[in-house]
Amino acid sequence: MTSYKELGLVNTREMFAKAVAGGYAIPAFNFNTLEQMQAIIQAAVETKSPVIMQVSKGARNYANGTILRYMAQGAVEYAKELGCEKPQIVLHLDHGDTFELCKDCIDNGFSSVMIDGSSLPYEENIALTKKVVEYAHKFDVTVEAELGVLAGVEDEVASEVSHYTKPEEVVDFSTRSGCDSLAISIGTSHGAYKFTPEQCTRDPKTGKLVPPPLAFDILHEIEKKLPGFPIVLHGSSSVPQDEVDTINAHGGKLPDAVGIPEEQLREASKSAVCKINIDSDSRLAMTAAIRKHFDEKPGDFDPRQYLKPARENMKKMYIHKIVEVLGSNDKL
Ligand SMILES: [Zn+2]
Repeated sequence: MTSYKELGLVNTREMFAKAVAGGYAIPAFNFNTLEQMQAIIQAAVETKSPVIMQVSKGARNYANGTILRYMAQGAVEYAKELGCEKPQIVLHLDHGDTFELCKDCIDNGFSSVMIDGSSLPYEENIALTKKVVEYAHKFDVTVEAELGVLAGVEDEVASEVSHYTKPEEVVDFSTRSGCDSLAISIGTSHGAYKFTPEQCTRDPKTGKLVPPPLAFDILHEIEKKLPGFPIVLHGSSSVPQDEVDTINAHGGKLPDAVGIPEEQLREASKSAVCKINIDSDSRLAMTAAIRKHFDEKPGDFDPRQYLKPARENMKKMYIHKIVEVLGSNDKL
């Protein structure tokens, strides 16, 4: 058993309470490589932001759970080395699908886990979430649950259609399951293709796809029923058009990739939404920089030559999200 406290990590409890009260959201960035981790920590330290580093089951399989644990410990020490006296860093499991996986993460240094029972019948979702909560709380690990189904693809998590969270269920669900935060479905979606062209309208000036708006009415209803309760948004990359254009200009093929407009995420951050998950934007920033580098310097073959600009591009994106979208800067 390795407690996250030994690694210098924190759980989400105090972080979320401050974020809800302060009208901002904590960034939850997915990572599975060294360069992503370095960029996340550099961005968080430079902006004085708390940060959630999260890994999916697929990322954990890719990077190895033991290595990830020491990477998270390294992240804390690295933040201190960069001048942050008291880093607020969470290591979170994204989309845990079984009790056993959540337990394994809790036993191995995670400070927060998500149990995603959203595809199960309602009562089974409550029972599974409750089982994880009972175990996690023994070790002061916080638990995120999910009600409602997001469309899109994220590692093993895939659904063709979304089902909005039903506001009439949230009080019963959170009370009986004991979860610390709740991921809801209000129209965000996983991946870089969040909406089909048929679901969007086209901007007459640019010809670019404009996605349907998020269901803020549902969010506000949930907030009214659960005042001050931490709400989480998944699938909230904005799929920056300049990165998509760079990828496509240098041999990539991402036609009609579309995300959530940052304006809407900015608005959501001011509400009870206190954690916003961003994964695809990091993948796009990394890929855009690498494609551009290979195209312009075909003779390079030292990974540092192309991973350095990739890391810089991701860092720029992370800082932009923290300062311009989520508002979690200057909170340490
Ligand atoms: Zn998700």
